[in-house]
Amino acid sequence: MTYNITLIPGDGIGPEVTEAARRVLEATGVAFKWEVANAGADVIEKEGTPLPDPVLTSIRKNRVALKGPVTTPVGTGFRSVNVALRQALDLYACVRPCKTYPGASSLYKDVDIVVVRENTEDLYAGVEFEKGTSETARLVSFIKEAKGDVVRADSGFSIKMISEAGSRRIVRFAFEYARAYGRKKITAVHKANIMKFSDGLFLAVAREVAGEYPGIEFQDALVDNMAMQLVRRPHQFDIIVAPNLYGDIISDLCAGLVGGLGVAPGANIGDEIAVFEPTHGSAPRYTGQNRVNPIAMMLSGVMMLRHLYEAKAADWLERAIAGVIAEGRQVTYDMKSGAEDAQVVGTSQVADAVIEKLEKI
Ligand code: NAD
Repeated sequence: MTYNITLIPGDGIGPEVTEAARRVLEATGVAFKWEVANAGADVIEKEGTPLPDPVLTSIRKNRVALKGPVTTPVGTGFRSVNVALRQALDLYACVRPCKTYPGASSLYKDVDIVVVRENTEDLYAGVEFEKGTSETARLVSFIKEAKGDVVRADSGFSIKMISEAGSRRIVRFAFEYARAYGRKKITAVHKANIMKFSDGLFLAVAREVAGEYPGIEFQDALVDNMAMQLVRRPHQFDIIVAPNLYGDIISDLCAGLVGGLGVAPGANIGDEIAVFEPTHGSAPRYTGQNRVNPIAMMLSGVMMLRHLYEAKAADWLERAIAGVIAEGRQVTYDMKSGAEDAQVVGTSQVADAVIEKLEKI
């Protein structure tokens, strides 16, 4: 079977890491037909937008995309290609596995946490009111009328919205993910003691959904305590499910626990469509230098293989990547090890090393 996949090289370091991932994915023997769709800073001049319609059309048709990072242009009025893509395709679950591979420079051994972050609601929904506008003055007077004198007239607002439906689908997603991947425990992160009507709703729904999955342990944690627990005893966590803002912060914290952005893969998933991309951005100052680490992008490719039920190929590729990390002889600058014969190599040489290590057994 041949898989039709939308390939978005992105900009900055995107094309280099995407090419490395494409090569190692093809080396597994799984057949792909890549439909290249360009988005990002490099296409604005020609297309007038960093996210041309054909990109969305291609992803809607193929339902699976592998995406390199894309720069958010400053001052074009475009909020973010990534946010726009997630909203247009309703990719409501951001999945970020954070796993230590022996040899990666990390603070802990054997961490294996998956962060499931809600991707469409919360403070990131973009409902904001700027200080000093007439709209904001109306909002301020409405709040005064409803709640008394609790808000300063010179305030700006970013509205935190958490819905029952949005909470239900992300928590269900986390439990279904646990079932599919044999995970045992889910921790819901919130600050429901303070934000009773938003985080409180999220927690109430999470508890209700947890009742539908008696085989999977459920607990909840306040986000501040969670940050401390993750740093002190990360091994107690398995899957973490969180609203958008906490999920964003906690997933970076977890990436930091396992060796940083160079090894942190991710996916944005909806009911029909999945877009696989690393956690890191386009690191523009490294563009075209063949220097940066392609491993986060390759591991996003491993996630894509699992999503396509190509479990064997996913295992082979993950093992080969783990082998290259463990040896530490052919890794990029950010993973430089103390091995005697260690060399710092470029992006494409890491792909060569992974392909050399690939054993299809
Ligand atoms: P960044 O992740 O691009 O880079 C931060 C630093 O991390 C880099 O300077 C580099 O030192 C290091 N780094 C990142 N990726 C690496 C890799 N593969 N190997 C080795 N080192 C790596 O973050 P930023 O500088 O905040 O953002 C740059 C641009 O990327 C911005 O325009 C931002 O909006 C965009 N961005 C895009 C995505 C996405 O496409 N999903 C995600 C995050 C940021």
